[in-house]
Amino acid sequence: MTEIGLFNLSELLKLQKKGELTPSQIWEYYFKRRQKWEPKLNAFIKEGKFSGNGIPIGVKDNITVEGYPTTCGSRILKDYIAPYSATAWERLEKKGFALGGKTNLDEFAMGSSTEYSAFGPTRNPWDLSRVPGGSSGGSAAAVAAGMVKVALGSDTGGSVRQPSAFCGVVGFKPTYGRISRYGLVAFASSLDQIGIISTNVKDAAFVFSIIAGDDPRDSTTTSLSVPLYEEIFSEDLTSFTFLYPDDSFCYGVSEEILSSYHSFIKLLKKLGGKGKKVDLSFLENSIEAYYIVATAEASSNLARYDGVKYGLREKAEELFEMYFKTRTAGFGDEVKRRILLGTFVLSSGYYDDYYGKGVAYRAFISEKLRELFKEGEFIVLPTTPDVAFEIGKKQDPISMYLEDRFTVFVNLAGLPAISIPFTLSKGGLPIGVQIVSKWYNENRMLVLSDRLEGEILFENKLLKGGEK
Ligand code: GLN
Repeated sequence: MTEIGLFNLSELLKLQKKGELTPSQIWEYYFKRRQKWEPKLNAFIKEGKFSGNGIPIGVKDNITVEGYPTTCGSRILKDYIAPYSATAWERLEKKGFALGGKTNLDEFAMGSSTEYSAFGPTRNPWDLSRVPGGSSGGSAAAVAAGMVKVALGSDTGGSVRQPSAFCGVVGFKPTYGRISRYGLVAFASSLDQIGIISTNVKDAAFVFSIIAGDDPRDSTTTSLSVPLYEEIFSEDLTSFTFLYPDDSFCYGVSEEILSSYHSFIKLLKKLGGKGKKVDLSFLENSIEAYYIVATAEASSNLARYDGVKYGLREKAEELFEMYFKTRTAGFGDEVKRRILLGTFVLSSGYYDDYYGKGVAYRAFISEKLRELFKEGEFIVLPTTPDVAFEIGKKQDPISMYLEDRFTVFVNLAGLPAISIPFTLSKGGLPIGVQIVSKWYNENRMLVLSDRLEGEILFENKLLKGGEK
């Protein structure tokens, strides 16, 4: 029989129905892999227990699961136990899925390497000296090493797509409003969206069809109907249009990434895609705008961690000293940097110069993109400027921020996007490619990705073996 980890979700469930596989056999398979990999990777902050259909799902530790910790990778929430479950998890649990574990992340999802976790870095299963990307690095590493079947992450500026590219797995970020944020700890509320990390496109679609949709507990969710899994792939996508930028848009990108990106464009054409080169230079200030809007919202969202309402409280003689000591001891450097930056861009003397401009730029690119999608259905781009970097290599915060140059505009505009594994570098590290689509066009984006996957035949060699 094929190894359990190589079936997709719907196949696994069918085998269970037919009685060919039991929930405990499935759980046991993943549990053994976890024993083998977890000591090397540190992908989990808290491991899960057997339940339901035994198919383990990883949940990023900024998404609540009742009775489990939700640390957000921070000292300030080290001992916090969630009293309720996020809608996304609740819907999966109702279908019988088991919690594989709460996965590691950069503190409060701020970062691109999972090095900023208060619980130590996660390592990349393809090369243990390298980062898995971030901030959903624990989720991506756990899926890539086959310790869980799929995992939930959050994507505020690329945190589902970038680690997926670094770990050779699929990272899918739906349109803003598709998946309820109830129970997702807020970083930058107008950009945050729960996303799905999986070893194949069909599994991402499967989970999407379960967790997406209207939720009265999140007023930003859309009431648009959610596609059924079977319906998504009944669509036949033989002709489509796509847009791609001039190479000048990819300045500074590594040669290997650029050449695989060129091969990707060729493949799209081979599959019947009509490609059109377009000017995307209007997106060039996305990083600046993102770090204004995201830090502004973060400074407000993180004000609640004051030693009174949640988690850590440091001892002090009087109130302000308690706030000060708690926040000083509880937050790591990157989170402090963002709170300072965010309060600065919102301060009365600078509001118009920074926050006002960031918001205006966001409206400007959203409008430009709306126009652009009249010329083509998809925009294709690299996911990252380079392959996974070595742990400790990016000490300068700006160099870390630039990791997101191909992903953040998607969040500023609220678009859906997906990263799929394309090839391996000469050094044996995964390279991903990114497809961005217009609002609510997830179905066709998933169908195209599934077709591409069938042509690319990326082999995750980590998934083989380890069962015994
Ligand atoms: N790396 C980006 C940041 O640090 C994006 C993070 C995310 O998507 N959560 O803000």
